[in-house]
Amino acid sequence: MALLDRTRAAARRLRAIDDITRPEPVELRGHLAERWAGLPPHVRGASQSIGRRTMGCEGTQGVFPRCNLACTPCYLGAEANRVRTDGAHTRREVERQMRELGRRRGPWQNAQLIGGEVTLLGPEHHGDALEAMLRARRKPMSMTHGDIDYGYLRRLAVRADGSRRFRRLIFAVHFDSLMLGRSGIERPRGEADLHGHRARFVAHFSRLRSEHGVSSYLAHNMTVTPANLDQVPAVVRAAGRQGWRLMSFQPAAFQGNARRWREDYRRLDADDVWAAIERGVGARLPHRAVQVGDARCNRSAQGAYVGDRWVPILDDRDPRDLRARDVVFRAFGGLNWEVRPSLAAVRIARAVARRPGTLIIAAGWIVRFARRSGVRALARHRCRPVTFVMHRFMDASDVGPAWEQLQRGALSADPRVRETQERLMACSYHMAHPDTGRLVPACAQHAVFDPVENRRLARLLPLREDPPTSTSRG
Ligand code: SF4
Repeated sequence: MALLDRTRAAARRLRAIDDITRPEPVELRGHLAERWAGLPPHVRGASQSIGRRTMGCEGTQGVFPRCNLACTPCYLGAEANRVRTDGAHTRREVERQMRELGRRRGPWQNAQLIGGEVTLLGPEHHGDALEAMLRARRKPMSMTHGDIDYGYLRRLAVRADGSRRFRRLIFAVHFDSLMLGRSGIERPRGEADLHGHRARFVAHFSRLRSEHGVSSYLAHNMTVTPANLDQVPAVVRAAGRQGWRLMSFQPAAFQGNARRWREDYRRLDADDVWAAIERGVGARLPHRAVQVGDARCNRSAQGAYVGDRWVPILDDRDPRDLRARDVVFRAFGGLNWEVRPSLAAVRIARAVARRPGTLIIAAGWIVRFARRSGVRALARHRCRPVTFVMHRFMDASDVGPAWEQLQRGALSADPRVRETQERLMACSYHMAHPDTGRLVPACAQHAVFDPVENRRLARLLPLREDPPTSTSRG
């Protein structure tokens, strides 16, 4: 009997090891295939990563809409600041939404803890929400305006007894001169005024790592309008080497609070914004190698600074690189390598063992990357990976009718509405609505659902019951 028990226990342990070291979780494979099949045909090209590598991004909704800075434009509805930020409500909602996302989209997808300003939750409740997301097997990213000090981060990442609460933190930080009310610089005159604040934010995380061993992944977000477009290159030049792993630029859209719209955002052209980023990088940014959703919504280029030069990982004009991309999609699928290096190595080894030809392709890619970087530069400098992204949200006045027709199963003949519908159908960024079982694109969330949701939350969580302060600064 004892021998039988021991054998069963050993078999269970082996199964668990097999599961955790498997390149792609079995349940994710089915979700990816379903997602791919559900994509509209116009985005199902060779470069499409949704349905192959990822399910796309996710975000929370209806949790903490309030913010203590003022952006122009601001995607939060006009009623957002009438809602109290409440830790218990946030944890409940985050748990419900993450459970739903896990059920519908499989494990370990990128999920943003987003709404209003996350740090108004206070470090304890903020940490509770991140833990709930991890329990639901999401990769949580906190979206903040970044007006916080080191004490806040330490209290978030480290328990009172000095032990680490989180091994790694992922933050997306919104920094641009269209935001008013930041401590020490209430009204920036331009983007250059914020370079020091950007650097200080990154420095907080370096300190967190050296003092407490908490690593980080930091994404810099900037809203672009006609007023600051010409400053984009300078932001890239200054911040590109500060330690951000991703720099994302969002051309402004007419979304959210209409009282905060200041300029004619329709004058912005996606190519102009991308060209401004390229001027800052000092290199062409090849965005056609890997696509996330619809090209009219997103562009991205992965690469690394080798010394002063940014070098792309994949050149979209080199057929050998495109072949390498295809091989990675096939061999690795939804492999999650943002884990302990030893575990990532075993998963990669198992994936390669299934397709040994991957090694030859990888060797060719290494040679090409070394040539592009310059072998001497590679020997002298550390590679610092930085991805550049542009995410172009849509105007609420376009999204409202497009979404309404989509719900009736109608495709519009009007070219502008039709484009909006096509983009919504290929959306790479969803929010869960557990009550209705719907997954909603972020553009529709802001344009259609947030105003109603905020009015409901203002009744549920009225401001007058605000708890004693437990805010970001301290
Ligand atoms: S539909 Fe909107 S939220 Fe979705 S990817 Fe396009 S711009 Fe982004």
